[in-house]
Amino acid sequence: MDNTASCMIEVCDLHKHYKDVHVLRGISTTVAKGEVCAVIGPSGSGKSTFLRCLNRLEEASSGEIFINAQEITDPHLNLNKMRENIGMVFQGFNTLFPHMPAIQNIMLAPVNVRGLSHKEAEAYGMELLSRVGLADKHASYPDMLSGGQQQRVAIARALAMRPEVMLFDEPTSALDPEMIGEVLEVMIDLAKQGMTMVVVSHEMSFIREVADKVLVLADGVIIEEGSPQEVFTNPRHERCRSFLSKIL
Ligand code: ADP
Ligand code: MG
Repeated sequence: MDNTASCMIEVCDLHKHYKDVHVLRGISTTVAKGEVCAVIGPSGSGKSTFLRCLNRLEEASSGEIFINAQEITDPHLNLNKMRENIGMVFQGFNTLFPHMPAIQNIMLAPVNVRGLSHKEAEAYGMELLSRVGLADKHASYPDMLSGGQQQRVAIARALAMRPEVMLFDEPTSALDPEMIGEVLEVMIDLAKQGMTMVVVSHEMSFIREVADKVLVLADGVIIEEGSPQEVFTNPRHERCRSFLSKIL
């Protein structure tokens, strides 16, 4: 297999310090094009920090990250350009612009960044809203939408830049239980269409259905890495066994 052609994300010995706190302590991994990588681990283990380093919302202290052969950690990189290629959906569902209806939230980047006309962006925005099952809510302001609907609009907004990679940081953890399924469904759909995704989530049904690999983080290092089957049924590390016993 030609590695450079199939590799979408490569992380080499990533470290992150906040002053004297050593949060990520040598993370190395790869994610192939079209793969879904799930990241799990105890609270405070560094999952969000890891994800935020992948699009430079946090600066790595050392190490290298490549996305589609481009060095993300290059200090001279054009951050805006790079971020067009990496969509992110955050924990919590109140990340939409409150003063804009759903469709305008989605049109913003295509108009301002990709230079689409209002009409083109609107048509594309409607297509994306349909994709997340919310075409009928195009005129709704965020506060008229449920948490699950807001999170689906946030996914559509991230997709509007036509990213090659999508990052999700516990996208369903702030939602009421009855809304989790609708968001996971959109994510499963995206995964099946071949999007490369790194997803911090403990939703086992999602992980079992679409994750190609699972990383288990503890204290800023990867303690287990493998297919869901390998990691869930036969973890080698005692810490991983004890963590899994709490969530499985
Ligand atoms: P997780 O997402 O796995 O819960 P985080 O990546 O949010 O973990 O945090 C990992 C560790 O880094 C925690 O101990 C947290 O307190 C610390 N941390 C995160 N962000 C900062 C920051 N901006 N300044 C100092 N410490 C931080
Ligand atoms: Mg987190």
